[in-house]
Amino acid sequence: MTQTPPPPLEPLNEDWERMLCIVAHPDDLEFGAAAAVARWTGQGKRVAYCMVTSGEAGIDGMSPAESRGVRELEQVRSAQIVGVEEVEFLGLPDGTLEYGVDLRRAIAAVVRLHRPEIVVTGNFRDSWGEGGGLNQADHIAVGRAVLDAVRDAGNRWIFNEQLETYGVQPWGGVREVWASGSPLSRHGVDITESFDAGVASLAAHQAYIDGLGWADFDPAEFLEGMSRASGQRMGVAHAASFEIFNMGWGG
Ligand SMILES: [Zn+2]
Repeated sequence: MTQTPPPPLEPLNEDWERMLCIVAHPDDLEFGAAAAVARWTGQGKRVAYCMVTSGEAGIDGMSPAESRGVRELEQVRSAQIVGVEEVEFLGLPDGTLEYGVDLRRAIAAVVRLHRPEIVVTGNFRDSWGEGGGLNQADHIAVGRAVLDAVRDAGNRWIFNEQLETYGVQPWGGVREVWASGSPLSRHGVDITESFDAGVASLAAHQAYIDGLGWADFDPAEFLEGMSRASGQRMGVAHAASFEIFNMGWGG
């Protein structure tokens, strides 16, 4: 039997200056996107992280009260490894996020504060693709809310109180949202040079990795499985894949 190979990945546009990455949990970016972030910060671009929750329900043997601080610290260190100094935590409840106006409001505020041209989020499709398992509820809620909040951020009459409360202005300058690791990815970026930084940033989530109880989990091996498969679709050793959502009206 012959299988149809996945289509080639087109190179992502790197003609931008400011990126904001918005994901549900500490560690979400490190499972695939962090090496790409390291490449971009290495090019002098400004990248900030926003965690919607602190992943406080992510370690079975540690209470949320204790876990919150541990995971926030691991995320800050992990971000520094790939050149990201700004990490925000919105403090919404891990595991029970709901798509809706409240989530859009919280995300729109962060978009207005940072005024990025590109927003990265995690895969929010129902699954990770063939044989990849079901996606997680928080990831799906956040990704959908990111798309909507990016548009909300540009409209001064939506969440208008933020203009007073935070002294922000509407921001309609987000050109695209990129969903990392989506099974429908058609674009990618060569991360061969920054692969090791991506591995180190995942390894920085030590308490979380220990808590998973995967005895032989090796961050390098895990990330390599994905990045080599994506790399083959670009003709490079390692690549990270993204699904692009164009945020221009009618674009
Ligand atoms: Zn997650």
